[in-house]
Amino acid sequence: MRFVADAMLGKLARWLRIMGYDTLCAADMPVDDDDLLNIALDEDRILLTRDQELYHRAINAGVRAVYVASTDIVVQLVQLVKLVGLELRDEPAKTICPSCNGQLMPVSRSEVRGLVPATVLDTHKQFWMCQSCGQVFWEGSHWKQIREIVAKAREALK
Ligand SMILES: [Zn+2]
Repeated sequence: MRFVADAMLGKLARWLRIMGYDTLCAADMPVDDDDLLNIALDEDRILLTRDQELYHRAINAGVRAVYVASTDIVVQLVQLVKLVGLELRDEPAKTICPSCNGQLMPVSRSEVRGLVPATVLDTHKQFWMCQSCGQVFWEGSHWKQIREIVAKAREALK
């Protein structure tokens, strides 16, 4: 399952990447609405949009699309679970680069020496590097927040 999000859904796009879903976002690319529809069709991606007009155009063009009305990330995730069968994941090892949608590869501590703060190097064993943009990731404090959001979404689905 892959996605393409309109420019208003950049935050949701980052969350989907954190959960391991390949997600393009119009905020990162010089594209217009026609391009978004073509990308969705050509690459078999589900279009996520906050634009009702674009949503209706997508449905008429045979594009699988979700109209995302809420700005609340928990509500958005719950909507995707219900409508397209999104799996809520909170595993750092399965994450895709939240910045650029690139693949993350595990790297050793010695490889990231100098690239991450010394305190991070001292307190973490696992690191990942984006193959596209080179950014280094570790299971830092933001994962607490990620797990909280995922837990809230799971709770809302009960
Ligand atoms: Zn990246």
